[in-house]
Amino acid sequence: MLDHAVACAPIEACGLLSRDGGGQWSGFFPVPNAARSKSRFVMEPGALHSVITRVESCGDEVAGYFHSHPYGPAEPSKVDIEEWPDRAWVSFIGSRDRSVSGQNGWTLQAFEFAERSSGGAALVFGVR
Ligand SMILES: [Zn+2]
Repeated sequence: MLDHAVACAPIEACGLLSRDGGGQWSGFFPVPNAARSKSRFVMEPGALHSVITRVESCGDEVAGYFHSHPYGPAEPSKVDIEEWPDRAWVSFIGSRDRSVSGQNGWTLQAFEFAERSSGGAALVFGVR
């Protein structure tokens, strides 16, 4: 995933992740960023649809998505939280955050969407 992020920089990279029937991550599928923006991503609809079809035809399911923050930080933005595609999905974010050490300055983190009883959204770090 980080290789894809590096290849797409300085624009944001994005893609989907699948899980198999046993709940194990089974694949990463890059999807072009139709927004071609350094600060935003829109998964190209045709490619998005074909990835979902391909994943489901193998009996797996899409269970996560990835995008990059070429200019950091390593956490979801307000827009990312508002536009979380499916709240059951894990969000993987690859970022080039100078305050975090990683592969060539890039780091990968995962977030799950969690509702708060107050109605707000909370993010829980961790990969299942
Ligand atoms: Zn983002």
